Amino acid sequence: MAQICLTGACLCKSIAYHIILPASESFPKVIICHCTNCKRYTGSSFSANIIVPQSALKYIKGSPKLYSDRSNKGGQVLREFCSDCGTPFTSRSSDEKEVIAVKSGTLDEEHRLNCATLATEIYYHRKDKWVDEMGNEDVQRINGSMGV
Ligand SMILES: [Zn+2]
Ligand SMILES: [Zn+2]
Repeated sequence: MAQICLTGACLCKSIAYHIILPASESFPKVIICHCTNCKRYTGSSFSANIIVPQSALKYIKGSPKLYSDRSNKGGQVLREFCSDCGTPFTSRSSDEKEVIAVKSGTLDEEHRLNCATLATEIYYHRKDKWVDEMGNEDVQRINGSMGV
């Protein structure tokens, strides 16, 4: 297997990145975080992330703004986002020097589809109840929007 190169961008495309992983590695698995700060940060019920070496991530167009957040344990969580469109890119603990969490929804389609395995859910006790209903038969399913 050749080197893996994952690419991604924000909604407005003013910031883009790539992640280069060694040939020996398989595609990163998805880690979901149910913490209350990730809910606010993403505007959703959880964040979906891939964890990669910090040295593997390079911004190739534009540069994100950094927000220094407080972690639940009292330390700092550094969160990078696009200041034009608000897309969240990354989060990491300020003590963490090795790895970084990249929001998997920012990956370009083909690369996002390759990161197809859910490995871990953290802050599981904070999981919103409806998340379990996503696979339920009685949930209405529409391919497309509701027009809102
Ligand atoms: Zn943007
Ligand atoms: Zn979180």
